[in-house]
Amino acid sequence: MDETLFQPDLLAGRTALVTGGATGIGQAISRRLGQLGAQVVIASRNPESLAAAAAGFAADDGLDIAWKRLDVREDAMVKAVIDEVAETHGGLDILINNAAGNFFCPTAELSANGWRAVIDIDLNGTFYCCRHAYPYLKAAPAGGRIISISTTRANSGWPGAAHAGAAKAGIQSLMRALAVEWGDDGIRANFISPGPIAGTVGVQKLYEDRGRGEEIRQQVPLGRYGEGEEIANAVAYLASPAGAYVTGAELAVDGGRQWNFGV
Ligand code: NAP
Repeated sequence: MDETLFQPDLLAGRTALVTGGATGIGQAISRRLGQLGAQVVIASRNPESLAAAAAGFAADDGLDIAWKRLDVREDAMVKAVIDEVAETHGGLDILINNAAGNFFCPTAELSANGWRAVIDIDLNGTFYCCRHAYPYLKAAPAGGRIISISTTRANSGWPGAAHAGAAKAGIQSLMRALAVEWGDDGIRANFISPGPIAGTVGVQKLYEDRGRGEEIRQQVPLGRYGEGEEIANAVAYLASPAGAYVTGAELAVDGGRQWNFGV
């Protein structure tokens, strides 16, 4: 980490849960939160990738990041994991809703199962996590933080991935509702909308494998894909006191792509 960006103890004493924290953007977020002094727990379905990520955090950054098996589609499992994390670490201060599923499919060919799978992981999973984290976030001494990872494509509609666009639009609405309902409890609820991020499964599956990688890159006014670290820096801002008056907000980190309608 470039130590001129953030004070290394910015999030010391906080406990953070990152769903889908073993891979891609979630991994970059987890690393940054750990580098800033938070106790981080990553949670998702695949124990091999969780264990490999934890070993990588330890070897590359000297970070002790714990992991839990979690399927965010299972309400009871979400409650059990969140309760266990809070008991082990003396509370929960920061919830990062990052877990998601997606695939390219024209809507005329999309099955009910395909639609449900994405809504279940992204939207329902985010609700379960927020709902069960609430009592702990409310008790967080420096105020609870919810940061959900959305996409700019939720704002425009997402032809070819309408299921994911709709799920993320639902998450955005949920964050705005929670910002109002839970503001009084000291909880801030925000969402980050990444553009295309280099080296991720998302970009590979949705764009590169379909031969659209270069075309998408050229749509970005800043001329490149983003980096996971750049999403992680936005998380650090929203989680820290620097974002103290920000709630119910979207922070787009997309190199300006969503506004590029040409000149
Ligand atoms: P990724 O590497 O595929 O990450 C998704 C994570 O979600 C995986 O670690 C996966 O772990 C976990 N997950 C999936 N289903 C789950 C479930 N039922 N329960 C618990 N965890 C589950 O994808 P990514 O590209 O980094 O995306 C991360 C986030 O950024 C997503 O919310 C995505 O929509 C958003 N985003 C990405 C981009 C991009 O350019 N990549 C752009 C905009 C937004 P397991 O397989 O172990 O469960």
